[in-house]
Amino acid sequence: MSPSPFECRVGFLWSELLESFDFGAKHPIQPGRFRRIRDFYRSCGFLGLPNVSVVQPRPLTQNELEEIHAADYLAKVRAISDSGEGEIDIDTPGFKGIFENASLTSGATVSGIRAVLAGEIDHFVSPTGGFHHAKFARGGGFCIFNDVAAGVYELKRSGLQRILIADFDVHHGNGTQEYFLSDPGVMQISFHESPEWMYPHDGYIDDIGEGPGAGYNINMPFPMDSADAVYRYAFQELVPPLVDFYEPEFIIFLPGIDAHYKDRLAHLVLTTHTIRFVAEWMHQAAHRYASGRMGVLAGGGYHPDSFQWGMGVVMSVLSGHDYGPPPQSPPFEDNEETWSEVRENVARVKERVFPLFGIN
Ligand SMILES: [Zn+2]
Ligand SMILES: [Zn+2]
Repeated sequence: MSPSPFECRVGFLWSELLESFDFGAKHPIQPGRFRRIRDFYRSCGFLGLPNVSVVQPRPLTQNELEEIHAADYLAKVRAISDSGEGEIDIDTPGFKGIFENASLTSGATVSGIRAVLAGEIDHFVSPTGGFHHAKFARGGGFCIFNDVAAGVYELKRSGLQRILIADFDVHHGNGTQEYFLSDPGVMQISFHESPEWMYPHDGYIDDIGEGPGAGYNINMPFPMDSADAVYRYAFQELVPPLVDFYEPEFIIFLPGIDAHYKDRLAHLVLTTHTIRFVAEWMHQAAHRYASGRMGVLAGGGYHPDSFQWGMGVVMSVLSGHDYGPPPQSPPFEDNEETWSEVRENVARVKERVFPLFGIN
């Protein structure tokens, strides 16, 4: 593997307090999840590199919270947090201190963005970031406060006018989509498993945005069992033309680690080769268009091996430090049926969106 052509300074968002959560013994997100990534980064040598630093997260402020969530919803989370009783939704149980913990795990994203805007680092990696299912009036799907939206508002406050959310998490970013549907200042590209059978049952090709935002919301759904080949095909067909057209000033990137074949909360069967391929392309795009400015929000990843491998690959791409996960053998190759559905979806996305931007 060749070293990165860039001399990039990378911030890793970390505090022990990120670990103060408890969704219960059977929940897919267990305490220790983020500390294990910190320990893994240490053992790989990432955290000893001269170009990698630890950035302290700070909680979202009251103003930031009010910007991204309705007062009623904030009051509900506060009440659950104080009593330790109740739930955000069926998949997202409450616990004592959930308000403080969610403020910090989401605040990490804004802290990373501030460090990039201040010129202290070029990129950041937040292991807790990517709560893309939280909506203005309600949370859900393991997401309390939408840090992606909070990050976008922070970028807008600093005057940025073209922000790319490249959301490759295997679940559609339905919360984030809702905030920016009519806003051409935010392009959201979401690759995800088909809404027909996968949570959050949203993210259809025809939801391209509204009014001045028409075309800036791009949904690319994949059928069950989609593997590396169809995914890369869809990426090559859609992402470079859109990003080259948009010329983003900042890239918020969710690398899609829960689309790995070991991750059985969803049904895509990618390997880390594709996760690396996507991360390398996005990293280069950040340098081409955004003076390198890019933040990685880990998003989902529910198998301990593939979550670690994916996080390792992403940090390797950004820091230029060698890391390779073990050999992998996905259970399926793409079959003809998968190919024809993906080709059809790609063609429909192009048909709906490309003419609006004059892309052939
Ligand atoms: Zn870089
Ligand atoms: Zn996910």
